[in-house]
Amino acid sequence: MKQQTTCPYCGVGCGITAELSANRILSVSGDPQHPANRGRLCVKGSTLHETTAPEARLLLPSIEGRAVSWDTALDKVARQIRQAVDQHGAGSVAMYLSGQLLTEDYYVANKLMKGFLGSAHVDTNSRLCMASTVAGHKRAFGADAVPGCYEDLEIADLILLVGSNAAWNHPILYQRIQAAKQANPSLRVVVIDPRATASCDLADLHLQLQPGSDAALFNALLVYLADQGHVDHAFLLQHAEGFEQTLATARADTPDISIAATKTGLDNHDLTRFFRWFAATERTVSLFSQGVNQSSSGTDKVNSLINCHLATGRIGKPGSSPFSLTGQPNAMGGREVGGLANQLAAHMDFSPENVDRVQRFWNAPNMASEPGHKALELFNAVERGEIKVLWIMATNPLVSLPDTQLIRRALKRCELVIVSESMADTDTLQLADICLPASSWGEKYGTVTNSERCISRQRSLLPPPGEARHDWQIICEVAKRLGFAEAFNYPHPAAIFAEHAALSGFENAGKRCFDISGLSRLSQTEYDQLQPIQWPVTTDAPYGTQRLFSNGKFFTPSAKARLIPVSSQQPMQQLTDEAPLRLNTGRIRDQWHTMTRTGRTPTLFRHRAEPFIDLHPLDAATHALQDQDLARLENAQGQFIGRVRITPGQRPGEVFVPMHWTQSFSSEGRCNVLIESVADPISGQPESKQGAVRLSGV
Ligand code: SF4
Repeated sequence: MKQQTTCPYCGVGCGITAELSANRILSVSGDPQHPANRGRLCVKGSTLHETTAPEARLLLPSIEGRAVSWDTALDKVARQIRQAVDQHGAGSVAMYLSGQLLTEDYYVANKLMKGFLGSAHVDTNSRLCMASTVAGHKRAFGADAVPGCYEDLEIADLILLVGSNAAWNHPILYQRIQAAKQANPSLRVVVIDPRATASCDLADLHLQLQPGSDAALFNALLVYLADQGHVDHAFLLQHAEGFEQTLATARADTPDISIAATKTGLDNHDLTRFFRWFAATERTVSLFSQGVNQSSSGTDKVNSLINCHLATGRIGKPGSSPFSLTGQPNAMGGREVGGLANQLAAHMDFSPENVDRVQRFWNAPNMASEPGHKALELFNAVERGEIKVLWIMATNPLVSLPDTQLIRRALKRCELVIVSESMADTDTLQLADICLPASSWGEKYGTVTNSERCISRQRSLLPPPGEARHDWQIICEVAKRLGFAEAFNYPHPAAIFAEHAALSGFENAGKRCFDISGLSRLSQTEYDQLQPIQWPVTTDAPYGTQRLFSNGKFFTPSAKARLIPVSSQQPMQQLTDEAPLRLNTGRIRDQWHTMTRTGRTPTLFRHRAEPFIDLHPLDAATHALQDQDLARLENAQGQFIGRVRITPGQRPGEVFVPMHWTQSFSSEGRCNVLIESVADPISGQPESKQGAVRLSGV
């Protein structure tokens, strides 16, 4: 028997056809009908069936290490939440969610917290992934909306990969670019990245810029476009605002190519070549990812790039778009329901009108009226003792958040840590008071949204093992015990999705970009058979919307896009005599997040078997290190030990380490112990790519 579903790893959101036999997944292959991947899968996706063995799974609920019944566990969760709210107020309860959750899980979690308990302290690991893009989109477009679609990659004549190693992290999109380049030899690819990554194999030009200098580069590009007569003044006049002030700020920041060369570390010739190509190429797609987002000025970097697209009118047209590549399978779905602490629901913020609107829609008794704590603030509040009950779902913050010592202290201090998790041995689970076994990919049933706004179905292939339950069911059971049975009495995820879709269209009438009200009346059968569809989906666009802003209208009060003045900034984590090397952290080709799933198959260790340190030959020589030596990176916060890989792809003075290894796989290979707890003040996204360390042999 065959079943269609969606890959749970990256934001490409590939469709999968799974072959099943008596409670086993025999094989997986790319779904040829899915628009994201058209039958292809990368190595992670194609080994999914090797990762579903029940041996490593969390099978029973437990309290303080003792197995208990679901009723006992759920009663205690509800009782302690009620007690915390009564004694310390709603703000003493928080949730930390995940881009691995399905939209339906996310929706009920957000509804319970923001509408029924009255706490907006609901944040997510998507904060680590695309929060700067969300903030940048809202500033520029008045909505958190990716304008383009994957098909633009096949139409473009110039593709920028900015802070993105798509060859490893969005492999199927990279393959689409490869195919597009073969079909259209005049298509140029420019990689803008401090490292020479696998994505450079396709590059006509690699701008190996100084880490963090993206805004200086795009400010200089904006000045060049203006001075060389490449600005689309007709577009700006009709559809955008803020150009003159933005240009003046860019000119003050990076007035010409020679200043840009100094700030970025690039040479004048390469900069000129890039600027000429950009100026001359109408159909330009700028793909950007964590190298832009994971920065203390990530939002400004996003806007500096979007500014260049708006100045040239390159948005809303085939083959012309700034394009954020989300990291996670459902980072966008989480954004849609309000899974970020500064969003209320259905892309609405906390304006009094929105709070009132959502309260009426939910008939909610205890609406949160102010934004809650973003991820780093949230764990700081836990450490201060302000948050008494923390419920973590489907994520491993003890490994993935910066300053892991602080996260450990926070979890130890917290009166009650509840962890909903599908795997039995995550680092975070070890500090949980209550462990709740959750269903996982292949068992879960709901929807996800990928990087091009495409909603796809994840379908159950197997029953959950042991006593594991779906996250939406667990949350609704707690809600019922808290006295909210009527509002959380969903018989099926289809009912949750229908409510979410209806909320997106409630008193909307074209005012808000996120609108899937056209899907609010799906029957359970139609929901089950739902094929991939790009939002908005409304009565006017019943088959979805491939590109946004084609009509030149945006979601700001003036309906015009906004160019945002940006001044380039240095990273917050300063290099010092004690920590003179710039530390870059990131993903590798065959692992995913903290390896709780990909670490289950030996196949995915063939590419990289252990934590490593990528190092330039000059730095290796300075520290008397040979290839394959063990070396130590350290700073005031901690240390990381990895195998030296000497590569000219690194810039001198900079090192790269993978982010995946956990206590279970390598006690000294966790890189986030070295990253300080600093974030972009606008988006709250941590500065994970610009740490500061010293290096020594082991
Ligand atoms: Fe899964 Fe991403 Fe690979 Fe597609 S590209 S198969 S979504 S990991």
